Amino acid sequence: MDHFQYRHGILHAEDVSIPDIAAAIGTPFYCYSAATMTRHYNVLTGSLDGTGAKVCYAVKANSNQAVIRTMVELGAGADVISGGELTRALAAGASPDDVVFAGPGKTRDELAQALAIGIYQFNVESEQELRLLNAVAVEMGKVAPVSIRVNPDVDAGTHEKITTGRKQNKFGIPIDRAMDIFALGAELPGVAMLGVAVHIGSQITDLAPFEESFDRALGLVDELRAAGHDIRRCNLGGGLGIPYGGETPPPPEEYGRMVKRMTANRQLDLVLEPGRVLVGNAGILVARVVYEKHEGRRFIIIDAAMNDLIRPAMYDSWHDIVPVVEAAPDAPMTEADVVGPICESGDTLAKGRPMPPLAPNDLIAVRSAGAYGAVMASTYNSRPLVAEVMVRGDQYAVIRPRQTIDDLIALDQPPPWQQAELE
Ligand SMILES: *Cc1c(COP(=O)(O)O)cnc(C)c1O
Repeated sequence: MDHFQYRHGILHAEDVSIPDIAAAIGTPFYCYSAATMTRHYNVLTGSLDGTGAKVCYAVKANSNQAVIRTMVELGAGADVISGGELTRALAAGASPDDVVFAGPGKTRDELAQALAIGIYQFNVESEQELRLLNAVAVEMGKVAPVSIRVNPDVDAGTHEKITTGRKQNKFGIPIDRAMDIFALGAELPGVAMLGVAVHIGSQITDLAPFEESFDRALGLVDELRAAGHDIRRCNLGGGLGIPYGGETPPPPEEYGRMVKRMTANRQLDLVLEPGRVLVGNAGILVARVVYEKHEGRRFIIIDAAMNDLIRPAMYDSWHDIVPVVEAAPDAPMTEADVVGPICESGDTLAKGRPMPPLAPNDLIAVRSAGAYGAVMASTYNSRPLVAEVMVRGDQYAVIRPRQTIDDLIALDQPPPWQQAELE
């Protein structure tokens, strides 16, 4: 359920008409619905009621300050993957006590930054990282709270580029090496070995791989406890999928029931790191038709492109694309490729998609663009980053102004030997 619905034939975000926003700020733009984010957060946390689980929003899904802030106000912590995300999460009001730091390549500076702040947990992904974290913590007179991210060798059944829990993936420590790593950690004075973490991928649409990975993680907790380690935490990762089109991911209620069943009476502090499921369907990308071309095939050329939303090009992902002015029920639908202006054939947002008649300047909306949309945008083809808007009830606000081409050029710096010529 989301709050992007037609009213009298015009697409609205909550109570705000999309054409009104387009008239005020131009296109393309991302539009997020605060009510949709709130609803998704409440459904997920409701399903975990009684578990005491800490829900750390995976900031990488959408790291606009207003989005992180919305999550923080709802009670979420933050799952961060870089020092930059850590700074962003804190700037948006996240409490250090609710921050989990994951990722296989944390640098010394990033570890030191997080140690100085005093975060809830480091999810450590290699022996070298554990040793470096220990060394930095000892230097700083701190003890780092650690969970070891294990790689359970489970196939999440998702796209190749976002599966992370198979042994050939770069993430985590192979689960059969975990005992040795915990034994090592127990000897290191700068780390407290508190828990086990798993995260097997993203856009997972089946409960079975989650269940398998949780089962392996919890089995490891039992083994570690039997070996005398004081394991108190288990971090179950994120990855729950959303319906973009035909998918039928498990409803959060079912996911929550499974988590409850598997972790009951285990005396573990749980952490979850959902990203996409909270924000994915809470955002759309609004664009305008520039041209339409019928040369054997129907091409709808819009003013948004792969640099604005790379998911179709990168993950072969399917996004619903709808006209902002609802098509008449009897409008003829003909197959079209919806493409951007970038000079690459990969700049295709939809292929062979039944679309109603559209004319230049008509608005269209690419749905389910709230996660891994704006955050993955680039300025390829010297296309400035698009505006982002958040709606709440009958109000909206620009939460990131559209970049200008002057902003973009100003980021470049001429070498000294060219400055004279430019002046
Ligand atoms: C990306 C990521 C997440 C969030 O994944 P979603 O599919 O957006 O829920 C959670 N944890 C880690 C470690 C991640 O890398």
